[in-house]
Amino acid sequence: MSAAADPRELDLDALRQRLLPESGGERSTSIPELADADPDLCAIALALPDGSVRSSADGAVPFSIQSAVKPFLFALALADTDGAALDRVGIEPTGEAFDAIKLESGTGRPPNPMVNAGAILTCALVDGDDPDERASRIVAGLSSFAGRRLEVDDDVAHSEHLLGDRNHALAHLMRDEGTLAVRADDAVSVYARACAVLVNAQTLAVMGATLALGGVNPVTGERAVSARIARDVVAVMATCGVYDGSGRWMRAVGVPAKSSVSGAIVLSAPGRLGAAVVSPPLDEHGTSVRGRIGAETLSDDLGLHVFG
Ligand code: GLN
Repeated sequence: MSAAADPRELDLDALRQRLLPESGGERSTSIPELADADPDLCAIALALPDGSVRSSADGAVPFSIQSAVKPFLFALALADTDGAALDRVGIEPTGEAFDAIKLESGTGRPPNPMVNAGAILTCALVDGDDPDERASRIVAGLSSFAGRRLEVDDDVAHSEHLLGDRNHALAHLMRDEGTLAVRADDAVSVYARACAVLVNAQTLAVMGATLALGGVNPVTGERAVSARIARDVVAVMATCGVYDGSGRWMRAVGVPAKSSVSGAIVLSAPGRLGAAVVSPPLDEHGTSVRGRIGAETLSDDLGLHVFG
């Protein structure tokens, strides 16, 4: 293996050019906004401990964060409950799809915070007396990870809420189990807004870096969450972040990450950097095809594999 490249010098546009001809995968059809996404959007971004952010072309193109929000929702729930969120949601990988209608047997808790059931629950654990207050708290908390003020795409949030039948089913199931304390529809409405927050590859890389670097945003110097919470979240990304593709991901890429149906993948390389690789066409696990190949290349070129 050749020596690891310097992340300050890696040619991200050359990597993007290598990824573009990869034409496998399909865009999500779960909502019209994702079905209409540009299939050739392709971006790679890195956020480094010195606060520098580098990206390829398309690094500033906005998209909805979708499930890449889940690690940050878990972090905010841990912060707002003083860690008690760990009693309310499991942390075991499921080996199943992100929207599987399944809770932990025996407890009725969501299996982990990286699948939909878990994220619907963590949204309900953040501070706020009603859905609007919780959604505002989430957007403010995500903005602190991002180092800039983020916003919800209302059309995406509306579609998610209207068309997310499986998410409504999961919320009702958790109500029935007594594990979700708020109204099912309120819980889905907040989760839909969290998934609809607009980011770009550069922003997502900074968010990933904030988790990778002990909870402090390297661009603003602001602490988003405690080092303990950042560590806990990255650990759960490592085991559960790519759903039923998590084992394969950990072997091949070896960097804790979270995939999403918008084709965005956020990576947190502990103590090293944050990264985002983004392109809408997805494989059968709901992971961006170009994103996975790009992440493998970044891991190899920069020597990021945690077991490397
Ligand atoms: N908003 C999407 C959903 O709830 C998020 C899923 C994902 O990105 N994997 O179905």
